[in-house]
Amino acid sequence: RMLRQIGEATSERISLIERINNFNDELKSKVAKATTALTERNQELRDLNARLLKMQLELVHLERLAVAGQLTATFAHEVGTPLNLISGHVQLLIESFHDNDTIVRKLALVQSQIRRLGEIVRRLLDATRKPKLELAPVNLNLLVQSVGALIRPTLYARQIQFLDHLDPELPLIQADQKQLEQVLLNLINNSLDAMPNGGELSIETASGPEHTASIRIRDTGAGIPAEHLERLFEPMFTTKEIGKGTGLGLSICRAIIKEHGGEIAVKSSLGAGTTFSILLPAEVPVLQPGA
Ligand code: ADP
Repeated sequence: RMLRQIGEATSERISLIERINNFNDELKSKVAKATTALTERNQELRDLNARLLKMQLELVHLERLAVAGQLTATFAHEVGTPLNLISGHVQLLIESFHDNDTIVRKLALVQSQIRRLGEIVRRLLDATRKPKLELAPVNLNLLVQSVGALIRPTLYARQIQFLDHLDPELPLIQADQKQLEQVLLNLINNSLDAMPNGGELSIETASGPEHTASIRIRDTGAGIPAEHLERLFEPMFTTKEIGKGTGLGLSICRAIIKEHGGEIAVKSSLGAGTTFSILLPAEVPVLQPGA
């Protein structure tokens, strides 16, 4: 009996060892699968981070261009007004001295040089005009999702939780997708700056009244003092140190939203966070013949 019991115990142990071996193999293959998935995920994160960095650099570049453009436009405008005045007076002088050939010739020379300057100023103004909107039907939910995927790694690294609430009934809007993406990234960048110690960022889409769509970007950051709220959208208004902020982000956002026929508003309370709301007109439905 003892021999039988020993035999049974041995075969039980062998089957146990087999099961452990199987389990080990299974574990190994699971670990291998998980490692591959992790490597892929890491690669994805690296790609997304690289894309985000590229977009942020583009954004900074665009802001610089906007500053340069604005300065040039101001310069051209400021120079253009006195030039017109001078030109008018020279014209009057030409008329007054019409019987003195030498003076008229000299004044005509002055006039032609003024015209040349005027031409340069006009060319400068033309070069600083904004590019036109490229309108197409845009699904704001997809836009939020793609921006969300883009910023997730950064949010994760900064211990910021990301939540999105997307309205499945959201109407399509007629918009320039790239420019709206820039608006979202600008607002998100500001939210990130306002939450240096982590927090929560949420983006919500909703169908608004009278065929409109809205996006709300809320953070739990430092908030904005009441005296800053009214100056927030002014170009060059910034509370950030030199080199970190240009104060153009929000003015560009407002310009883009206005061009889309929409509105942007802000609500904030110090220490509790900030919410930016954007309201955009939805795509005007095209009437079918006979409808
Ligand atoms: P910049 O980011 O270059 O300063 P912006 O026009 O984007 O320019 O923002 C202007 C200012 O508005 C910021 O400097 C900051 O003080 C304030 N601000 C914008 N968004 C937020 C936010 N989500 N939380 C707190 N302050 C904000």
